[in-house]
Amino acid sequence: MSLLRQQAQKCLANQVTHKGLNAFIATENADAVLRSVEADSGTDSPLRGRLIAVKDNICTADLPTTCASSILQKFRSPYDATVVEKLRKAGAVVAGKTNMDEFGMGSHSVHSAFGAAYQMNADGQEVSAGGSSGGSAIAVATQQCWAALGTDTGGSVRLPAAYTGIVGFKPSYGLVSRWGVVAYANSLDTVGVLARDTAAAKQVFDAVNGYDASDPTSLAPSTRSRIQAALSSAARRTSLRIGVPTTYNIAELSPVVRRAWLKTLQKLRSQGHSLHPVSLPATSSALSAYYVLAPAEASSNLAKYDGVRYGTRAAGPDGGDGEVLFSRTRGQGFGDEVRRRIVLGAYTLSSEAMDNYFIRAQRVRRLVQGDFDAVFRAANPLMISSPSANAQPEDHGVDVLVCPTAPGLPPSLKQLQETKPVDAYVNDVLTVPASLAGLPAVSVPVAVEGNGEPDATVGMQVIGQYGHDDLVLEVGGMVGDFKPGAA
Ligand code: GLN
Repeated sequence: MSLLRQQAQKCLANQVTHKGLNAFIATENADAVLRSVEADSGTDSPLRGRLIAVKDNICTADLPTTCASSILQKFRSPYDATVVEKLRKAGAVVAGKTNMDEFGMGSHSVHSAFGAAYQMNADGQEVSAGGSSGGSAIAVATQQCWAALGTDTGGSVRLPAAYTGIVGFKPSYGLVSRWGVVAYANSLDTVGVLARDTAAAKQVFDAVNGYDASDPTSLAPSTRSRIQAALSSAARRTSLRIGVPTTYNIAELSPVVRRAWLKTLQKLRSQGHSLHPVSLPATSSALSAYYVLAPAEASSNLAKYDGVRYGTRAAGPDGGDGEVLFSRTRGQGFGDEVRRRIVLGAYTLSSEAMDNYFIRAQRVRRLVQGDFDAVFRAANPLMISSPSANAQPEDHGVDVLVCPTAPGLPPSLKQLQETKPVDAYVNDVLTVPASLAGLPAVSVPVAVEGNGEPDATVGMQVIGQYGHDDLVLEVGGMVGDFKPGAA
């Protein structure tokens, strides 16, 4: 029996064993999976015969795409998203569609019409797997697949990776096609990869990265070549300048996370890299700006689910006295968190609130981008016509930033029930700045001792300048403590 078939069988067996964790909304038929694994796809791509799970907001023609929402419970896409098409071309086999926070809105994968997805700690307690790509993270962490696709709007690939001890990579905005990916907040949505180590994450990223004429925000081939040319002409350095954003050392950081951060920085120094404290002053406003901009885009994107154009219509008559045609359909079809975001977004876009909220948040977004450009040694290739115009002198600026992914360890589902839904928003405080700026960022697991869990890890984040995706993965590879299993 081939090794690939053996590995696929192990994944299929784990899907049965770990069914209770609710990682998948739908799985592929096991026989069909094994047949595809052994089929000769005529490619020598490293993804050949690999089982890859796909978040349920990414369209697949052979399985439903529900976004974990009742309103899309009957939706089946007539086509594959470009990313899925690319995976299949590389010989990968779709393992199934993973559970998530409805439409990508949430940080713990508990806001799902199919019930929460979660992980178990050593004491048998149900613990948050992070969100919104929690199903994808659990599927990789418990080896129900080899790697998975997720989407990251404000941290939804990195946070679940941090909570489940795996790698979560959010590429630069615009590199990976969003065609066939159900929109939450278009200007932030990024398809990302969950895998057990950075080498596997890179293999998946390389397969899905590329210009797509169907996605109007896909980075143009000319800009891609310009970035490539600038990267290959830059001198390859053996000693990197590592930025330590002191503004990320917030009071909410738990001591074990701070210890892991220090350990990571010491490791980099002992490998010959230099450390440089940097300040990103707009950080403190980034979270608020995100929670104005993302719901605003969401309220506009989700307007089409009215049971007429898209979505399942509620049974019986709709639109009673003083109501509109789709009141009941939208009221029943969306969960609490999605309804909260729609109301919030509709408000910040209203004429009375527009200037004070939406416009201000857009300004903060520019400041956050400016903060990053001011500390990176490389110029932002999207901001200038000549690549070296605002680059820092050789002995200034940093190559990457290293900081934690989340302020604390994953809470138990029980703890979550005792907190207010909006308390979850603070978990995104360290991930949203890179999202607002469209920068590549990876979360890698770093081993920590002494918090009571065997094999405990904390997620550490590496953020780079736009287009420096490979460097970010390389530095992630230097500091991560990866669990075996990706070979
Ligand atoms: N937790 C954030 C939110 O709810 C991020 C979600 C995401 O990245 N999709 O908006």
